[in-house]
Amino acid sequence: MHSSAPSPEAWLRRRGVLRPFGRRRVVAGAVMLSALPLVGSAQAQGGGEPDVILSGMFITLDAALPRAEAIAVRRGIIAAVGTRAHVDSTAGPTTRRLDIPGVALPGFADAHVHTLALGELLETLDLHGLSKAEVLGRVRRAAAAAPAGQWIRGAGWDQALWRPPEFPTAAELDSVSAGHPVLLDRIDQHAAWLNSRALRLAGITRERADPVGGRIIRDADGAPTGVLVDSAVALATRVVPAPDAEALERRLRAALAQYAAWGLTSVHDAGASLRELAAFRSLAAEGALPVRIYAMAVARDSTLARTLARGPEVGVGGGMLTIRSVKVVLDGALGSRGAELRAPYSDAPAERGLVLASDATVDSILRVATARGFQVSVHAIGDEANRRLLDAVERAGAAGRALRVRDEHASMVRDEDVPRFARLGVIASMQPVFVGEYSRFAEDRVGPARVASVYRTRDLLERGTVIASGTDFPASDAGDPISTLFSMVTRRGADGTPRAGWQPNQRVTVDAALRSMTAGPAYAAFQERELGALTVGRAADVTVLSADPYALPPDQLRSLRVLMTIVAGRTTYRARESPAGRVAPRR
Ligand SMILES: [Zn+2]
Repeated sequence: MHSSAPSPEAWLRRRGVLRPFGRRRVVAGAVMLSALPLVGSAQAQGGGEPDVILSGMFITLDAALPRAEAIAVRRGIIAAVGTRAHVDSTAGPTTRRLDIPGVALPGFADAHVHTLALGELLETLDLHGLSKAEVLGRVRRAAAAAPAGQWIRGAGWDQALWRPPEFPTAAELDSVSAGHPVLLDRIDQHAAWLNSRALRLAGITRERADPVGGRIIRDADGAPTGVLVDSAVALATRVVPAPDAEALERRLRAALAQYAAWGLTSVHDAGASLRELAAFRSLAAEGALPVRIYAMAVARDSTLARTLARGPEVGVGGGMLTIRSVKVVLDGALGSRGAELRAPYSDAPAERGLVLASDATVDSILRVATARGFQVSVHAIGDEANRRLLDAVERAGAAGRALRVRDEHASMVRDEDVPRFARLGVIASMQPVFVGEYSRFAEDRVGPARVASVYRTRDLLERGTVIASGTDFPASDAGDPISTLFSMVTRRGADGTPRAGWQPNQRVTVDAALRSMTAGPAYAAFQERELGALTVGRAADVTVLSADPYALPPDQLRSLRVLMTIVAGRTTYRARESPAGRVAPRR
């Protein structure tokens, strides 16, 4: 539903010079990014006294000075790192002091989020982890409270949690919806469950043919049952009234505040519309962004064309907003059998998934985006979609590689394709919390032999791939970085299951996981000189945890709490102490 061929060469018309990407050092394939330039450690940078000195315990993720007691910050940039005595010696009469509780790390990034969807989720029914009866209960309560005729929205249901694990029906929703149209997104946002009123408003009838790239689930007589898959979902969402500008901004602000509370200092928005980009720009101009945003514009006609025509926007609003990537979607998701597989689904032998962008479309977007200085971020889940992406990068040659093409999800990668990521400089933008979801259905979808190719984090790392970790929330079980760390190290989902870990041979160390949440996303956003470690000259972005993650047994990583979030030296979140002295729980 995200794809369409780009219009011809209209946007190739160059307005102004291209940005000097060529000067940037490309470190394709550096496993843990240890080859990145590390700025000197315990030296203060010239140019005046620090605004603030942070004191506490710092894990810098800088090999030259892994631990430190204090950091001096000047104009949002780290001016000194080292012992308390050394950093204190840089203070001037106006320098403020801030004691940091817990253990401070470089600010956590989430390399794949959907900010507006999170904002909508915060205003709609959160159905994650609920039984069908619980979902229906929530809808019943919301319908009773809503003004007549208003759409009831929800997201996060997952039939894989139900017994039997079958798609639900419109009739089930009709019994609780009191005449309201109801639309509930599946957890992967590649399917939706509607009631009969919503189906009627969307014009989805027995006569309505399946749209290209989508499916209307039907009963034996051909009548729609209430579930729409992939591009068919758009038939319904397009009749839902869009939020006005005020509602859009309210939702974005709510999501951004949530990110700060989760300890995030940077997020990569994986598919923003023109309206969302405009709202990000105005929030950046107001100084109202509590989190750095690296935005990928959706590669659809007008959004792609206008974004490319405008050119990359780097570090707007004091470094808080960068728009330099476009997002292309190659296939659907595995849960709804939309992921493009080479061989048929094990549990649906007639199906191989959906092709949402052809090779010609991908080649064309790579060509025009790269020419305009934009990175291309490509959603690829099935093994065939991943192969097609790698082939396209290979065809694009050196120009495409310099722009650090990102494989968003890299969910199912065949053996022969694993080494191609590092060789072609393709970044694997992965979501460790997906292992929870995949543990529930991946083997059913692809069978016992192919399941070893699903979410092979360690295989990719060992072959030199740069991994940028994220969550894809709300299209996943959890959006907080503690869940990412826990899932990547233990291969257990955000809820802790399966206890033994799913495909535990793909576990990685705490260090590798933390780097994929800091240096990895920084590299994926061309920000490795500014972010990703606590060293002199980089931004003072800090996430403060309740304990040292290196010292915890892996199964206790989930107990970590975020105590404080700091962006450019400014506190964007501070946990409340409860009367018992405990920190209020996250989320
Ligand atoms: Zn996504």
